[in-house]
Amino acid sequence: MTSNEPVLPRVRPEIAALPPYRQGRQADDAGFKLSSNENPFEPLPGVIEAVHRAATFNRYPDATASRLRAALGERYGVEPEGVHVGAGSVALLAQFIQAVAGPGDEVLYAWRSFEAYPGLVLVAGATSVQVPLRPDSGHDLDAMAAAVTDRTRCILVCSPNNPTGPIVTAAEFEAFVARVPADVLILLDEAYAEFVTDPDAVDGLAARVFEAHPNVVVLRTFSKAYGLAGLRVGYAIGHPRVLDAARSTAIPLSVTATAEVAALASLAHEAELRARVEEIIARRDALAAALREIGWDVPEAQGNFVWLPTHDLEGVARAFDDAGIVVRAFPDGLRISIGEHESVEKVLGIARSVVPSLS
Ligand code: PMP
Repeated sequence: MTSNEPVLPRVRPEIAALPPYRQGRQADDAGFKLSSNENPFEPLPGVIEAVHRAATFNRYPDATASRLRAALGERYGVEPEGVHVGAGSVALLAQFIQAVAGPGDEVLYAWRSFEAYPGLVLVAGATSVQVPLRPDSGHDLDAMAAAVTDRTRCILVCSPNNPTGPIVTAAEFEAFVARVPADVLILLDEAYAEFVTDPDAVDGLAARVFEAHPNVVVLRTFSKAYGLAGLRVGYAIGHPRVLDAARSTAIPLSVTATAEVAALASLAHEAELRARVEEIIARRDALAAALREIGWDVPEAQGNFVWLPTHDLEGVARAFDDAGIVVRAFPDGLRISIGEHESVEKVLGIARSVVPSLS
C-alpha cells in the first residue's frame, strides 16, 4: 500500500487536539484593532533611542536580565533575587505551571479568564479545574477555596480579570490565601495592574503579600501599560526560592537584550507613560459609562478593555466587523480593548445600533 501522505512524527494526542493560540486579525487602514488589549500609543522616543543606542545583535543577552532585575528590585523594595524576568508574563505562567504541576496534578482558576491558561496547563500534562465566575463576572474566591483538593498544585488568580474586567479586592485575596495550603503555589496575575483605579483592589506588590505568604508570586508585564507587547518582557516578584523553580524550567536566553533595554528605558520614562495610562483609563471609564447608559450590562472595567456580555454573539460581532473594528469574540460576550481616541466614539456608535439584540 502506498500513500502520498508522509509519515509524521507522533504528537501527544492531547497536544494534537489543542487549538493553536489565536490572535485578532489586523485591522484595515480605516479600522481599529481592539482585540488584543494592546496599548494604542507608539513607544516613547526616549525608549526607541535607548534601544538604538544599546543594540548589539551578535552577542547573547544577559541570561538573568540582571540590570532589569536590579531596577525592578529597587523600585519595589525587594532583592534582585526576588525578581525573575521572562519573555512576556505568559512565559512566566508556563514556567511556574510546569515547575509545580504535572500529570495527576490540578491547576485551579476562575473561568472565564485569560484564554491561555487551559493550554498552558494541558501542555504541562496537568488537569485544569475551572471555577465559574460570580454573576458580576468577578472571581468567586469562596468557591475556588472550596475546590482545592490534595491534588491542587497551583492556583491562578487574575486581577483585573481578562476578559471580563473586575478586580479581586485586597481583603478577598488575603482571606483566600489564608484558606489555601501553604505548599500550593498562587500566581497572582496582575497583567493590567497599572490601569486599576478601584482603591479596594489587591495590589500584590504594594501589599508585599509574598513576604507573609511565600507561596504567592505576583506577575506583571511591560506589554500593556508600558506598550512593549511586541518585545515580550514580563516579570515575577516573590520569594527567591520559589522563583528558582521557574528559573529551572525557563528556556534559556529567551529575554532579548533589546527587550531588557526597552524595559529599563520605560522605567526611566515612567511619568510620561503614566500620563498615557491615565488617558486610557479616562477613555475606558467614559466608554463603560456610556455603554451602561444605553443598556449594556458592562461589568466593572478595571483593565484596558471592556466586556460586553451578549447572547447574540454573531449579530453583535458582525456589526463590529462590518465597521472595521476588530474585537475579540468569546462564546458569551465580546471584549473590546481601549484603543485610539477616535475608536471610542466608533465603538459606542456600533454598540448603540445593536442595543435591541441585547437580551
Ligand atoms: N496575563 C493576562 C491576564 C493577560 O491578559 C495577558 C495578555 N493578554 C498575559 C498575562 C500575557 O501577557 P504578556 O505575555 O504579553 O506579558
